[in-house]
Amino acid sequence: MTDRRRERLAALSSRLSAEKIDALVLSSLANIRYLTGFSGSSALLIATPSELHLITDFRYETQVADEVGDIAQVRIEPVSLWTGLWGLLQSIPSVELVGFESAHLLHRDFQRLLSQGSRWQWRPQLNLVEDLRETKDEDEITLILEAGAIATNALARTFPSIHAGMTELEIAGVLEKALRDEGSEEAPFPPIVASGPRSALPHARASSRVVEKGDFLLIDFGAQHGGYCSDVTRTFVMGVPTAEQCDVFGVVRDANHIAAHSIRVGMTGAQADALARSYIEHCGHGEGFGHSLGHGIGLEVHEAPRLASTAKVVLRAGSVVTIEPGIYRPGWGGVRIEDDVHLSANGPQILTNFSRELLEIV
Ligand code: ZN
Ligand code: ZN
Repeated sequence: MTDRRRERLAALSSRLSAEKIDALVLSSLANIRYLTGFSGSSALLIATPSELHLITDFRYETQVADEVGDIAQVRIEPVSLWTGLWGLLQSIPSVELVGFESAHLLHRDFQRLLSQGSRWQWRPQLNLVEDLRETKDEDEITLILEAGAIATNALARTFPSIHAGMTELEIAGVLEKALRDEGSEEAPFPPIVASGPRSALPHARASSRVVEKGDFLLIDFGAQHGGYCSDVTRTFVMGVPTAEQCDVFGVVRDANHIAAHSIRVGMTGAQADALARSYIEHCGHGEGFGHSLGHGIGLEVHEAPRLASTAKVVLRAGSVVTIEPGIYRPGWGGVRIEDDVHLSANGPQILTNFSRELLEIV
């Protein structure tokens, strides 16, 4: 893998200059990982156009040296990250106007900036690093592809052991074990296993409901590899499907296919969303598709860009997005089919491959 941290820091540095801020305090751990490689859970990063300082605590002394190397000056802070921050900012005399990540700072910590940090001027900043992260390089795309393969291999391993009479939680447990066995570092989010009427809840957690014959079984889960996430959904049927189940499933499958193959760099997020939505509406199921088509994926499971009817941003080459149309009918059930798609300049590349037919679990 190519070490691209210096390129990323150079890009950030020119953004700091454009924003006319002397320094940026980063508190998003995903942004800190992207810029420095540090994967610990406690850190502040201070970037000026020419310097980079990472503050963490004693627990990470060895790890931070291994992961960060000489890309940043590291400070192990015994009291608190904030005490470290004040000391550090004082040591850089030219710093007056300091940006902070307004999407990643608790109000309590913002108040610290105004009280203990009152000798500096503070300016909220949005998406300075997220915007860089939106365009993935080939190594990042490979990591997401591998995270996708871990997820689909884990599902293939889980599939034969699913049967009517298991609870959703039991199925989630088998899947979580399979994800670990396949090499997932952690679950990017708790797997959704939703059966029968619960499959109509787009964000159901696994419950103690017993899966019965005739149910839809919707499984939405992901894997993590090298810090990068995948996010996959498949819907199965317990036993032989009814004509109505086949009909709804077919519409979602075709909407997924149309959107995943027709999405292009240069479209807006809204135009991409419309690829699936207009088809689902045309088939008479528009009311059942109440969420947006998809989201960017990378170091975080939800990141830029959004594929939604309100998203005006233009899709860029190198983005990776989910395509996840669904149709939900309260009390009856729901179907969602979700894949991760790399938007290359030459067209979409689907990164998650597992049957998109309605598989029957006997
Ligand atoms: Zn998902
Ligand atoms: Zn998703």
